[in-house]
Amino acid sequence: ATPTALMVGTARSAKMGVLIKNGEVLQAVSDIDTVVFDKTGTITVGKPVVTDIVGDPTRVLTIAASLEESSEHPLAAAILHEAQAKEISPVKVDQFEAIEGKGVRANYNNQIAFVGSNRLLVDVNISQEMITRAKQLQKEAKTVVYVGLDKKIIGLVAIQDVPKPSSKEAIAELKRRGLMTVMLTGDNERVAHAIAAEVGIDKVIAEVMPNDKAQQIKKLQDKGRKVAFVGDGINDAPALSTADVGIAMGSGTDIAIDSGGIVLVQNDLRGVVRALDISQKTFNRIK
Ligand code: ADP
Ligand code: MG
Repeated sequence: ATPTALMVGTARSAKMGVLIKNGEVLQAVSDIDTVVFDKTGTITVGKPVVTDIVGDPTRVLTIAASLEESSEHPLAAAILHEAQAKEISPVKVDQFEAIEGKGVRANYNNQIAFVGSNRLLVDVNISQEMITRAKQLQKEAKTVVYVGLDKKIIGLVAIQDVPKPSSKEAIAELKRRGLMTVMLTGDNERVAHAIAAEVGIDKVIAEVMPNDKAQQIKKLQDKGRKVAFVGDGINDAPALSTADVGIAMGSGTDIAIDSGGIVLVQNDLRGVVRALDISQKTFNRIK
């Protein structure tokens, strides 16, 4: 009777946009007590837009866009889009370098320039005013990118990526079922907490380097938790494989989809709730 029950569960789930790779995955789902979410593209829409510029806007955007032109990061796309809207053309830079989980650096007019997180604020001058503005913007759930030139911060770009309309409801449903919800992100602590508060997430693990995401899942498992991880990005693949259940967004990267035991066809966290309900129904029937 077991395989039939599992098959039924799986067929019904497919109709609801929840693709479950095999029966073992379904069993693992029924044991989950913790759901960990990537932020960008999973909880949020994943289409960040520039909202504020601190400093001389033309200068700040010119330098930022010139460096970001060689980057594939979603924040780079936001900056390039804003530059284009303001009719600012990027200029050619030398010795471009992407610093994973931190930002980008290059030679701009024979000076070292960088665009990225506060992790790049080593050995640079930044005014008290800029620091205060950065904190304010982060409390508004905006990611702040620092623009540096020749060891001085010349401006800030604030970038906002709003939660998907369905995220709050899905998270409330998971909490109603007694699950602990966690956000795991490379973004700044203040920004992460602001977005977590908007959608009702219980716990935040922020400023995590891309390579350390899987290790954070392992830490929760070592505390005895049964963990599902929901993500979409290239750097989410190790966490998806490490989790007891990896749930990939169907809109995500191929490598994320391959690493997930479950794939959500719709780009919507309510699929996580459906996966839980399906597994529960299936196993109730077997028992
Ligand atoms: P996420 O977990 O949201 O995918 P990442 O690990 O990719 O975040 O990046 C962490 C942080 O590093 C970003 O929030 C940003 O501050 C900075 N960063 C990374 N890449 C870039 C870039 N190309 N331009 C500007 N900032 C960047
Ligand atoms: Mg992501």
